[in-house]
Amino acid sequence: MPIRRDRKLEKTIAKERIGDLLERAEKFRKVDLELARRYVEIARKISMRYRVKIPEDKRLNFCKKCLYPYTSSTARVRIRKNRVIITCLKCGYVRRFPKVPKNVLTSEK
Ligand SMILES: [Zn+2]
Repeated sequence: MPIRRDRKLEKTIAKERIGDLLERAEKFRKVDLELARRYVEIARKISMRYRVKIPEDKRLNFCKKCLYPYTSSTARVRIRKNRVIITCLKCGYVRRFPKVPKNVLTSEK
């Protein structure tokens, strides 16, 4: 008899691991950027494999393209016409948001 995969359990574990990895990335982004990026990379791989979404507030913490976490030295945040423009200084990828996301402005304090 084949062993059934418990997809619900898999997703729960995946979510937990993603949360854990992103927390670590957050912790290390000011100390070791490469390590923080690696954590984001793993979290993203897990999220794709198990089709678990990364929470929206966490998704704003790193570059979608090169996966480097945003810090004051890796990203530039500008507000123009009520829109937030985040430029990744590592790869030059630009993201625009129609309104001000709360955590972008509060997390760097
Ligand atoms: Zn980037």
